[in-house]
Amino acid sequence: MNVVDNLSGVIDAGMCIGCGACEMVDPTVRVSLNPKSLIFEPETPGSVDAAAVCPAVAVDYEGLQTYLFPGADVGPFGVVRSVHLSQSVDNQRNMKASSGGLIKELLRSLLQSGDIDGVIALDHVDGINFAARLVTHADDIDNLPGSIYHNLKQTPALELLRDTPGRLALVAIPCELEGLYSWVKNYAPELRSKITITIGLLCGWQYSHHSINAMGEYLGYNPEEIADISYRGGGPVGKLTVNTRDGNTYTASRRVDFGYQVAFDRHFNTSRCHVCINHSNFLADLVVGDAWLPSTVFTKTGISLVICRSEFAENAHARLVQSGACVSIEVGEDEIRESQTERVVFGEFAYAYADFLRSIGVHTPALHGPNEGFGTVKPRRLAAKFHRELVRKQALMAARRYRYMKWRKGTLELRGYIMRYVRWFMVRILRVKSISGQRKEISRDRFSGFN
Ligand SMILES: Cc1cc2nc3c(=O)[nH]c(=O)nc-3n(C[C@H](O)[C@H](O)[C@H](O)COP(=O)(O)OP(=O)(O)OC[C@H]3O[C@@H](n4cnc5c(N)ncnc54)[C@H](O)[C@@H]3O)c2cc1C
Ligand code: SF4
Ligand code: SF4
Repeated sequence: MNVVDNLSGVIDAGMCIGCGACEMVDPTVRVSLNPKSLIFEPETPGSVDAAAVCPAVAVDYEGLQTYLFPGADVGPFGVVRSVHLSQSVDNQRNMKASSGGLIKELLRSLLQSGDIDGVIALDHVDGINFAARLVTHADDIDNLPGSIYHNLKQTPALELLRDTPGRLALVAIPCELEGLYSWVKNYAPELRSKITITIGLLCGWQYSHHSINAMGEYLGYNPEEIADISYRGGGPVGKLTVNTRDGNTYTASRRVDFGYQVAFDRHFNTSRCHVCINHSNFLADLVVGDAWLPSTVFTKTGISLVICRSEFAENAHARLVQSGACVSIEVGEDEIRESQTERVVFGEFAYAYADFLRSIGVHTPALHGPNEGFGTVKPRRLAAKFHRELVRKQALMAARRYRYMKWRKGTLELRGYIMRYVRWFMVRILRVKSISGQRKEISRDRFSGFN
């Protein structure tokens, strides 16, 4: 792997994802919110050590997978022992959760059985500020939030791992684990034995804080006055809910609200998400995502897609099902691909866009995962077109021209917006891929006991 002197390329390209690994190895680095791009990034370039652990410089997927899962076979979805569709049978817990409520059931069960002494997971601090905290009592798990989709500084999770004795479970998004394990493997190997299990989220993207500001203009709240925010809950897709300090609540449907479609379109993602190839969370022992399958659209509460990569994770999931806390059916790798799409799991766009950025001299992380070479990499012209649009929209965001962006979506971008809906409707609701024999659906009777 190339040795990079410092983080200057990462900062110039806006590629930081806030994992915090650089802060753990280099005391000169301070990660803070950039007032223009509204993403967390280092204030100064730091040293060669900071660059060595930074997942916006490079990730050694092969080395890390061997370190974490020695001797295991690695395929395009990473190390896969088994794949399941699972759901908490606690209706309230499931309704509150982002998808099937599996993470909270699992964390409660691991704490209750004494398999772990504590959980390091994201919690609400104040406003739009969320940070990892230590949870040691099963009854406290339900107080953790659902999915938080805006960019965060994840250093507190790493500090807790360093400072907390005992056997720990960690809940994390893929790039967070990339930074964490690059740091642990190379600079703090004594911490590895504390990690009993990592529960990873599948992750398609996260958003800069411009998304929250833009929604403020569309819904009428002041972002400075936010008391709490949640993105999911109340059904499989759920709605964005913002509570302000004066007691008002603002909501937007994630599926149909037009303002939401503007503020949460992919140009609002942190830049590294566009070149990210690790949506399936190759480094987590157990991965949880949404089951976005035609055969699961019947659910009123949400169903989780679960990938078990380690024996401990597989046993923990099996125990949960045996205890009656969850219902589950075993499926296969096809369901990962169907649920997440080939574009996402095989990095069809990300590999193409990374090549394009490299060719025009923009710093791009070296990300070569086990999925490289699978799927069909998108043509360069699409990457170039996307880049032009991204540069334009990032300039509009920096100038806070959110209203103009809404107008633009309803006029210049309208065709693409409608086409996306049509595609979604054809595949998920009309099930054209299933009817035309392009895919085999799971039969409805296998889902007995699911909500
Ligand atoms: C940024 C992001 C993008 C995602 N993208 C996809 C996607 O494209 N496709 C897909 O299938 N699933 C995606 N997910 C996962 C999905 O939204 C659910 O989080 C997952 O299915 C778990 O649902 P649950 O009902 O079991 O968990 P919940 O009961 O909702 O619990 C969520 C848990 O995750 C922790 N958490 C929440 N947000 C974060 C965060 N930002 N960083 C670290 N920990 C966090 C919380 O502490 C909590 O323990 C994403 C999640 C995030 C955070
Ligand atoms: S991605 Fe992580 S390691 Fe790299 S600069 Fe950002 S916070 Fe630091
Ligand atoms: S898409 Fe990749 S880079 Fe973006 S938040 Fe998810 S794991 Fe991190």
